[in-house]
Amino acid sequence: MSITLEREPSSEMERIYDKIRGSVPRFEWEMHAPIVEEINRLKRVRNAVILGHNYMVPEIFHGVSDFTGDSLGLSIEARDTDADVILFCGVHFMAETAKILSPDKTVLIPDMDAGCSLSDSISVEDVRLLKERYPGVPVVTYMNTPAAIKAESDICCTSANAVSVVESLGSDRVIFLPDEYLARNVARETDVEVIAWHGRCMVHEQFTVDEIRAYRKQYPGIEVIAHPECSPEVCEESDFVGSTTGMIRHLDRAPSKHVIMVTECSMADNVQEAHPDLEFVKPCTICPHMKKISLEKTLSALENLEQEVVVPEDVRVRALRAVERMIEVGRSPGN
Ligand code: SF4
Repeated sequence: MSITLEREPSSEMERIYDKIRGSVPRFEWEMHAPIVEEINRLKRVRNAVILGHNYMVPEIFHGVSDFTGDSLGLSIEARDTDADVILFCGVHFMAETAKILSPDKTVLIPDMDAGCSLSDSISVEDVRLLKERYPGVPVVTYMNTPAAIKAESDICCTSANAVSVVESLGSDRVIFLPDEYLARNVARETDVEVIAWHGRCMVHEQFTVDEIRAYRKQYPGIEVIAHPECSPEVCEESDFVGSTTGMIRHLDRAPSKHVIMVTECSMADNVQEAHPDLEFVKPCTICPHMKKISLEKTLSALENLEQEVVVPEDVRVRALRAVERMIEVGRSPGN
């Protein structure tokens, strides 16, 4: 494939650039723009939707994504479209979630090797051993896991609904997989005993209390917003703790001009457009898995309909049961 650089950028490309000019220099955008145009043309040819996770680089998030947000919300939105193809700009477990919910659609990911330290932290054998060790104790599994782990679980959860899900089971203890820090953060908010696994997000585990205190000293009054995959000590030190979607909602009522989002680096770049008055202090911790997703790979996947994500049907059906059970908890009165 050859791409010709336009001399006169189209008004559509200028409209997109207006959204990201704070984080992408003009000379870089001039390299991205022809690829963005070609991806958006091919989407129509392929009847495809592109899902852009909150941690994508701005040229993907604002340039080519039809839906943006967290992985479960994106998969639900894609399921409800009449697209033939879902191209998930995120990591592998996220694309699997889209496939679990949309078995009749072709689900693609730009890079099959885009993994996740949490998702990779546990095997099916590990879950089966835990179930043997704690017979009858329900298994609650965070969405950041492969389909095969979800299929072994009683119910899934997100970082936003984890406490409600744990308490919905009517059990005095649960096995909570695989994020140790999320498990400990949930345990602080419930009387249910939480048996945790030792998985960690390699991005969120890097943040420290000392670092946050240093930012507070440097920017008096700064609003600190953390993701619950951070350690309980970091969450305790923060003003607000929430999922990526919860963080975005919180920005609408952030009381300070200076904000630090204690999460992956691209998040602040992507929300800046909607909050031009806020000044984001960026600790810039990058997820190497998320950053495997580029415009070039996105174009290649769409052009060649390659990097298809497949989930065996028996696994998909069992994983779907755990996901749907979680969605039901969200619909219950009081949740
Ligand atoms: S940010 Fe953490 S949880 Fe998200 S994909 Fe990267 S390693 Fe996994």
